[in-house]
Amino acid sequence: MADCVSSDLRRRIMASIKAKDTRAELLVRRYLHRQGFRYRTNDRRLPGTPDIVLPKYRTVIFINGCFWHAHHGCSRYTLPTSNQEFWREKLAKNRERDQRTTALLLSQGWRVLVVWECELATRRLREETLSGLVNEIYNN
Ligand SMILES: [Zn+2]
Repeated sequence: MADCVSSDLRRRIMASIKAKDTRAELLVRRYLHRQGFRYRTNDRRLPGTPDIVLPKYRTVIFINGCFWHAHHGCSRYTLPTSNQEFWREKLAKNRERDQRTTALLLSQGWRVLVVWECELATRRLREETLSGLVNEIYNN
């Protein structure tokens, strides 16, 4: 069933999962920067290459696309109507990888925060999410 998807499409799918510097990422980064936080981005030395690393707070932040990271219960996470079996398996694997990554980071003493794309969708949600994020970073 995976053969239903051309290798070219598959390559683009894989590439988009770890697309760097998405709009949502830039938004969170800019906000944290304005709040005076210093961070590293896309740190390959850590499991899962976290989008944002705040060494001072021993905290990493992942900004997750709702579809690719299978945000359960989210309206942005709906399977395409064709090749459903392929997508179900693919997205389940992404989710498992996220869980493994989180477990590894926790075992190394990192705090793991996740911001979902849908939590940044409107100005109001954005403000809530970002100020909530800052609170979480401070409340060790
Ligand atoms: Zn979502």
